[in-house]
Amino acid sequence: MSKRKQLSRRDLIKAAGIGALATTFAGCQSVANPGVGYRRPYSRKPWVAPRVSMDNVIREIVGHRPYRPSGFVVKGEQFDDKLVVHNYGHGGGGISLSWGSSALAVRETLGITPGKVAVIGGGVMGLTSARLLQDAGWEVTIYTRDMARHTTSSVAGGEWGPYSVHDPAVSTPEFKSQIQFAARIAHHAFTTLGGPDYGVHWTELYNLSETPPEDGGEFEHLYPFRVDLQPDEHPFPVPYVRHELTMMVEPATFLRRLIEDFQQSGGKFVIRNFANKEEILALPEPVMFNCTGLGAATLFDDTELTPAKGQLVYLPPDPDVDYLTIGGGNSNLYMFSRTDAVLLGGTFKLGDYSRNTEPEETERIVTEHQRIFSGF
Ligand SMILES: Cc1cc2nc3c(=O)[nH]c(=O)nc-3n(C[C@H](O)[C@H](O)[C@H](O)COP(=O)(O)OP(=O)(O)OC[C@H]3O[C@@H](n4cnc5c(N)ncnc54)[C@H](O)[C@@H]3O)c2cc1C
Repeated sequence: MSKRKQLSRRDLIKAAGIGALATTFAGCQSVANPGVGYRRPYSRKPWVAPRVSMDNVIREIVGHRPYRPSGFVVKGEQFDDKLVVHNYGHGGGGISLSWGSSALAVRETLGITPGKVAVIGGGVMGLTSARLLQDAGWEVTIYTRDMARHTTSSVAGGEWGPYSVHDPAVSTPEFKSQIQFAARIAHHAFTTLGGPDYGVHWTELYNLSETPPEDGGEFEHLYPFRVDLQPDEHPFPVPYVRHELTMMVEPATFLRRLIEDFQQSGGKFVIRNFANKEEILALPEPVMFNCTGLGAATLFDDTELTPAKGQLVYLPPDPDVDYLTIGGGNSNLYMFSRTDAVLLGGTFKLGDYSRNTEPEETERIVTEHQRIFSGF
């Protein structure tokens, strides 16, 4: 692990001869105080704290990650003369894995002459599967209960990170290869979509922890510019801070653009709520993709599939906050600065199907983030 030599906060204040000035402002609680004295490892701009307060909350939302301890399902299953290709169960990493998992799913049709195909589900998996099928020459109809803006996919935070997808103690070596493969394909695909059109951009990520971060993580090779900061090199109230670069995929923009691309390529939507697998198998298309996320639990009797309820808190967007944080508190904390909001997460409640936001979780998420940025 290469570590960059950096000036400490004390060094910088001394060098600039502004010690007295710094003391004068020490008691000032302005949230816009740009972390004077600390130098960011990658950006040339100063750190700016988000304006975290209950008064500033503009929205609270809940979504249910489709979680399977043994990992997501990509496989073809024959039902008499119909082929169903499953592509579901991506837990907390479905946006990140989308292009990769869908590429693996489309591979299940190799050797079949492209014709009409039904995609069930209009979230990120349905849309990316549909687009790749169109590229391969298929005529695609998406049958879905909800359009993308009403799905779990639109709730996602959108950091490129295929984490909380499986339980490594439960998943097989074959699955671990599958997720690596999907992650690499998806990562590559997103690097080709950078810019406002698809809502994809590179950004800095700070991982905050009380214990030393481990090396050799699952996807370490996909995060450039990794640097561990010394305690006097950052304004965060935790002993360990790891910096790296990641991609932000803004779900609203990305999903909207996928829909446009799909329709411009001749794709059609049919709004339909399937009660069971038999109704799906009765569709006229000989090949169908099951991209129903959590819906697969009842439609295809997958008893392993379970919701992981997540709650997010939105603050107004703040273009001066040009980085992300993960960790730094008791559980599942993150701050993602996007163009539509500064998003604070979160929760991960397994088996919880409830749809209500929980005021005490909002309070906790806000309070813990206030602490994280209190030293700026
Ligand atoms: C709080 C939160 C934060 C997250 N953050 C991230 C993140 O930062 N990065 C990341 O990569 N991932 C993140 N995720 C995970 C990501 O959102 C999911 O993994 C992903 O959206 C799953 O996509 P999907 O298309 O499989 O499912 P969904 O988006 O749920 O889509 C399923 C589709 O199937 C349709 N459907 C279901 N049942 C039926 C039926 N019976 N009949 C007809 N249609 C049906 C639905 O209408 C919907 O269109 C997050 C999730 C949550 C909840």
